[in-house]
Amino acid sequence: MPDPRLKAVLFDLDKTLADWPPFLRHIGLILRNAGDDTPRRTGDQGGTFPRGLQWFENWMRRTQAPGYRPEQRVLDMLAALEAADVPWGIVTNGTRWQHVKLVNMGIQPEPECLVISKEFGHKKPEPEIFAEALSRLGGPQPSETLFVGDNPLMDIHGASNAGLITAWIRRGRVWKWGPPEPDFTIDHVDEVPGILGLQTQQT
Ligand SMILES: [Mg+2]
Repeated sequence: MPDPRLKAVLFDLDKTLADWPPFLRHIGLILRNAGDDTPRRTGDQGGTFPRGLQWFENWMRRTQAPGYRPEQRVLDMLAALEAADVPWGIVTNGTRWQHVKLVNMGIQPEPECLVISKEFGHKKPEPEIFAEALSRLGGPQPSETLFVGDNPLMDIHGASNAGLITAWIRRGRVWKWGPPEPDFTIDHVDEVPGILGLQTQQT
């Protein structure tokens, strides 16, 4: 089931390459278990926080770079791509704080292909941001490029509509966002080398 056509990989950052800082997930669980059974907003992106606290989640996502930490599974996965000469990059809706997150995640130096919406002027799911990323990767065809992300609309619909192959980080969810559906559904980015048919860790 690996796809040998794939020659390059683009990643979303938040909740894809980076898990939520543990204290944030803890707060989210406390709030959800505290009796807030308010229906989730239509089109909810599967975030951790209940309705009404979306502003809080958004604020944390923008600013809480200090909570991000290196994750060995992520670093090993990126090293596997580099060992196989697979170009990779990051496409993220965010601000200059994304640079700080990458430092704290141990992803240094930054990839040459790092497209941050606030810096570039377009955001996912706009096709311009995907086209920019392909250009910075050196021009692979969209159909040769895997986009990995957790957000059904911004990541999966956006990348698929731009012609890329998609892998959805399901985070415990079942796909309910209609077509275009993800080409692959995974639990963690460490499954990406396997999608490309690369040798994965020792058995
Ligand atoms: Mg995300």
